[in-house]
Amino acid sequence: MQRRSFIKKSGYTGLALALMPGIAMAQDSEYSLDELMGKKDIALFGKDINMKKAAHDAFVEMRKAASSDGIDLKVVSSFRSFFRQDTIWERKYLQNTNERGMSKLAAIEKIIEYSTIPGTSRHHWGTDVDIIDGYPKTTGGVLDPAKFEAGGPFELFKQWMDENANKFDFYLVYTDNPKRKGFKYEPWHYSYAPISRPMLKAYRRNNIAKLIMQEDIIGKENFTAGFLREYIQNNILDINPELL
Ligand SMILES: [Zn+2]
Repeated sequence: MQRRSFIKKSGYTGLALALMPGIAMAQDSEYSLDELMGKKDIALFGKDINMKKAAHDAFVEMRKAASSDGIDLKVVSSFRSFFRQDTIWERKYLQNTNERGMSKLAAIEKIIEYSTIPGTSRHHWGTDVDIIDGYPKTTGGVLDPAKFEAGGPFELFKQWMDENANKFDFYLVYTDNPKRKGFKYEPWHYSYAPISRPMLKAYRRNNIAKLIMQEDIIGKENFTAGFLREYIQNNILDINPELL
């Protein structure tokens, strides 16, 4: 009886694999398009951390280590849904075109210095996080590259992260390499590589330009084929090579 059911089961698996070769590639399709674009309700951990389990756990370990060196790793922003990113995009687009009187193209170029087109943000993945040091008293916006330079409030944070972040598998995404294009230098934005690397690979297998144009994004009629090609090449792919 046991043997018969074993044969039945293994026979079924063999047949399923023959009919649906995709099953063998389950690892490759671990991330749905909805998840890659921030539209899936994914499990997030830690109310002040809000990342995927493994990324959360690594962050907690890194925060402990930083704490014993007198640095308070504080999350400014981590997971962000498609819809949240869409709200940010729309607000900036209207601000630039209406209040600042910029042309539509100039408005878009200005937004993509630091912000992404909805559906293309690494913050959709639950792997990426903007971090500062919670200890120093600061005034004005905290996500300001100057604050991370020598003499700035986050100088020690920057030194500590340069020395230690990679030990916890966190990597700076938008580095200060002068040859890098796309988003400007963001000394606060780190990515948990063990998950974000495979997610970027899965994301790249799609026609990203087509995905963007299928969305109802304000100003998208100004996205030419050339603009989209450069955005994908520079803003999505011209990142720290450790994350490719
Ligand atoms: Zn960020």
